[in-house]
This record gives sequence, structure tokens and C-alpha cells, in this order.
Amino acid sequence: MKTDDLRAAYLDFFETKGCVRRPSDVLVPKDDPTVLFTPAGMNQFKAEFLGLGKPDFKKAVTSQKCLRTGDIENVGVTARHHTFFEMLGNFSFGDYFKREAILWAWEFLTSKQWLGMNPDELNVTVYEDDDEAAAIWADEVGLEEVRIRRHGEHDNFWPAGAPTNGPDGVCGPCSEIFHHPGGFNPANEGTEIWNLVFTQFERTGAPPNNLKPLPAKNIDTGMGLERTAAVLQGVKANFEIDTLRPLCEAAAAAVGVPYDYDAKTGRPVRRIADHARAVTMAIHEGVRPGNNLEEYVVKQLLRRASLEGYLLGRAEPFLYSLVEPVVDSLKIAYPELTQTLASTVDTVKAEEERFLATVERGLRRFDSAVKRAADDGQSTIDGDAAWELHGTYGVLIEMTEAMAARRNLKVDRKRFEALREEHETTSKGTGRTGFDDVMSAGPLDALKKEHGETEFLGYEQTESDAVLL
Ligand code: ATP
Ligand code: MG
Ligand code: MG
Ligand code: MG
Repeated sequence: MKTDDLRAAYLDFFETKGCVRRPSDVLVPKDDPTVLFTPAGMNQFKAEFLGLGKPDFKKAVTSQKCLRTGDIENVGVTARHHTFFEMLGNFSFGDYFKREAILWAWEFLTSKQWLGMNPDELNVTVYEDDDEAAAIWADEVGLEEVRIRRHGEHDNFWPAGAPTNGPDGVCGPCSEIFHHPGGFNPANEGTEIWNLVFTQFERTGAPPNNLKPLPAKNIDTGMGLERTAAVLQGVKANFEIDTLRPLCEAAAAAVGVPYDYDAKTGRPVRRIADHARAVTMAIHEGVRPGNNLEEYVVKQLLRRASLEGYLLGRAEPFLYSLVEPVVDSLKIAYPELTQTLASTVDTVKAEEERFLATVERGLRRFDSAVKRAADDGQSTIDGDAAWELHGTYGVLIEMTEAMAARRNLKVDRKRFEALREEHETTSKGTGRTGFDDVMSAGPLDALKKEHGETEFLGYEQTESDAVLL
């Protein structure tokens, strides 16, 4: 099944269940100060979940444009993470609840009329004390106990952190569906494709008593379009699906390397393809590369992709040439993308030119900082070098950190921040940048927080033979 057909099938299926088809919300919300980019399908329905206002529908279905900067270091490395991706969601505002959410998800995935997945290849998780969800999976769906795993807050309460330190807002226990190619195997959880969240609390502040039942019980589900397409198309990674493989091939051609998923160049090429999508989608909504908030994220994604290309030997702008293939791959769902194509191309090219003007000297500066750290027996790149790279050579701090991490080095972020503050005070700078806000303490901390040490260390170990960034 093609990705465009999967999106359409999902929307059709939930319409047959009475959900009202709603358009994707914007990728860059203007009126939600808590996020820079839309991270999930539920964000446009926060008011409905809180019981505010009177929506003219009680059930909805969407395909939502999402962007998660917190996943940036996973991109190209895991088979399943992008920065920009689409989330298919079905939602209930005080209408259906757990039973229907589970049974409908199962029906959509396994019924021959819809996706026809092999039920033996699917297994699920539930929140540790959610006997109700576990019973529905066991008794009504008929899954053996061993295929219904129970996990704690980190994996099965959304957003994670509850009830101890999660963010304020609507939340609840969740049940996730994993695909396991070749059949269920308890040693390997497979790929998470769908998260069913039983949104029934509003969380305010710290525990105890920080979970207040919402006026009504709600459903919020999120299914990864690209991940599910990968399962249906029998390919080993999201980047190999019908909409992304041609983009990876275009990215490889643009930087002058053959595209081979498992080659050394596979990861950087996938990152280029991913960032080209994210940048195109954000610039389409009017965000230009800059120094604040969303603009800074776009600048960083763009420069990261440009640096990947540079390190693969392409010293001329190339990313702009991927805007058109990106638009081609998404225009069935978002025909409006064609209207901004030309201006997006210009914006991307201009930023690439700015970056490439200093990158060579920047990389030399980086190498000398790495050498100095090694000569001094230090595992940290000094903050002054990081600041110079950021301010003078356009190698943004997060890029320096990512390059350093791949050599098992850290960056003296404290000193860097002190220099940044000094600069902002003297130049009356424009304030904070986006990645700090989104990722609190930098990409590596965010990654550790989200995935735990194991996945992170594994990635560092396998990265040693890959290209620098
Ligand atoms: P993972 O554990 O694999 O990082 P998640 O638990 O963070 O996924 P959710 O927040 O539950 O993901 O989002 C709902 C669904 O959206 C996931 O089940 C997955 O199919 C999809 N999804 C989440 N993050 C990404 C991403 N970075 N790229 C592509 N799809 C994603
Ligand atoms: Mg998960
Ligand atoms: Mg999840
Ligand atoms: Mg995640």
C-alpha cells in the first residue's frame, strides 16, 4: 500500500466510525506558547480535551504534520525517527473510550478490508496498573498474556513523566502497538507504530494530587504514517518507503554519492533527506532561518544538512534542489506546497550560501579545538572555541556538540553560555534560541532523557565509522 493510500484509508476508516475529518493543523502554531512546532496530532485539540468551548463534533480524525527536534540525533541512525513526520490520529472528546479505541485500532490494522497486517506480528503494551486495557486486549482481541506487556510512566503514560514530573496539561495512561516482523518474540519489542492514549487527567504542578480527572474521558491516538507504511511495504526502514526512498536517492545524487542504505554514506544522506523535508515544511509556513525560536531550529536543520553534504564532498549549495522532490512527495496531501516552492528554493539557497562561505574555516577551527583537547588530555572542547565556531563561522553550538559527541567529546557549554550572555548584553541581542527552549539542556541531554542511556551509547558506538556529522 502506498503512503498516500494509507493516509486516505486511515481517514476513511475512522469516518466510518463517525469521526469528523479535520485538516492537519499548522506545523508552526502561533497561539501555543508551550511548543515551537506541533509535536503530535492532539495539540490542535487541547481545548476540546479540557472541555472548553463547544466543538461541533465529539470525534475527529486527522493526519497531522509534526516536527520533533528532540529526535534529531536519532535521524538516519534508527530505522524509525524523523524530525518532520506525519501522525495519523483519531480523537474522542467525551465520546468513545478505551474499548472502541483498542478494538478499532485492531480492526484497522488487521482486517483484510483495511490494512490486513498479520496479527501474529503485532504485540502491545499497557500502563502498569491499567487492568481494563489489558483485559480488552486479552479477552476481546484475544492476545495471549505474554504479548501484553506492562510498563511504567516512562513508556505508558503520555506525555511521559507522570505523575512525578511531567508537563502540565491533559494526560493519561496509554497502550502502544508494536510491529514485530516475523512474529512475536519477547526478546525484541519491534517497532512502535501506534500509541493509544486514554486522556482522562489534567496534570497541574507536582505530586501528590496533581492529577485531576477531566470533565470527560477522551481518546487521543497517534500512529506514525511513515512507520506504518514501512511495515505495509515490507521495507526495513521508514526511509525506504515509496515517498522517502526517491527523496534519499535525490539527496544522494545531489551530493554526488550512490544511495545505499547500509553504506557509510547512508546515514548522512538520510539526514539530508529528513532535514530537507522539515525545512521545506517550515519555510512553507513562513519561518525563515534566523536566530530565534522556530527560525533558529530551521537554520540549524538547514546547516546540519548542508554540512552533511559538505562532508560528503559537495562544497556548493545543493539542498535547495531537494525542495521540489520534497514537494512532489507531499503534494497529494498538501497541494498548497506548490505555491511556495519557488520562494522556498530561494530561501534555502541563500542560507546555504551564507553557511558555505565560512564552513571550511569553521571545520579547521573545530579540528584544532579537538586536537587541543586531545593534546591536553581533555574530554571537553573549550567554550571559547565553541563560541567562535557559533558566532564567527556559523557552526551552531548544537552542531559542534553533535560533532564532538561523535568523537566522544563534550563541549564546555557553561563557558559557551557565559560568552553568549556577555555578547547579548553588549549587543542587546535578540534573546534565547529555539533549541534551548525545545530541548532544555541541549540535544544530547534531551536524547538521554527520552531514550535512556542504552540507546544513546549504542548509537555512539556504531557511529565511529560513520561520517563526522
Ligand atoms: P519512539 O518511542 O519510537 O520514539 P514515541 O513513543 O516517542 O516513539 P509517540 O509520542 O507515542 O512516539 O507518538 C505516536 C506515534 O508517532 C509513534 O507510535 C510513532 O509511530 C510516531 N512517531 C513518533 N515519533 C516519531 C518520529 N520522530 N518519526 C516518525 N514517527 C514518529
Ligand atoms: Mg515510545
Ligand atoms: Mg509512544
Ligand atoms: Mg520518541
